[in-house]
Amino acid sequence: MNKLQEILDFNQSFVENKEYEKYRTSKEPNKKLVILSCMDTRLTELLPKALNLKNGDVKLIKNAGAAIMHPFGSIIRSIVVAVYEFQADEVLVIGHHGCGMNNLDVDKTLEKALARGISPDVITTLCHAGIDIKKWLHGFNSVEESIKESVQLIKNHPLIPNDIKIHGLIIDPATGKLDIIVNGYL
Ligand SMILES: [Zn+2]
Repeated sequence: MNKLQEILDFNQSFVENKEYEKYRTSKEPNKKLVILSCMDTRLTELLPKALNLKNGDVKLIKNAGAAIMHPFGSIIRSIVVAVYEFQADEVLVIGHHGCGMNNLDVDKTLEKALARGISPDVITTLCHAGIDIKKWLHGFNSVEESIKESVQLIKNHPLIPNDIKIHGLIIDPATGKLDIIVNGYL
C-alpha cells in the first residue's frame, strides 16, 4: 500500500469514529502565543508535549532551522498575521541542539541535486540570474546565534508592535529540555 492510501484509509476511520472531537478548538491561540521552530522530526510530538501545548494553544510555524531568511518572507508574514488577526502577544523562537541546518554543507547538497538529475546548467543559470544558491541554502554556524538573530529581527521589524514579547529558546531534541537564550521580559 502506498503512503497516500495508508493515510487516506486511516483518515476515513478517524473521521467515522469522530476522533476529532477531542481536538475541537478555535482559530485564536488560547495562549496568545506564536512559536517558530524547526521541522526536525524529533520535535513533531516532543515539542508540544514538552511545553504542555494542546490543540488550539499556539500558532506554530516551522521550517528548516527555525530561521528567518527574509524580513518580508513567509515567516514574518505569518507572525504579523498572528499578531493582528489572532491576538498573539508573545513569540517564542525555539531552535534545537543537533539541527541539520547547523553547518549544512551546501556543496554536498548541490552534489546530491546534480546526482538526482538536476542539470548543472540550471545551477549556472540561477547564479547568472543573481540567485546566490549557496547563500540561500546555507544554514548557520551557531544555533544560539541564529536564535538571537531571529529574535532581534522580529523585535526590530517595522510591522511588529513594541509591546510584543519575543523570547529565544533552545530545546534538546532527545529530552525536550528548554534553555533560555533570550528572555523577552528583560
Ligand atoms: Zn533543526
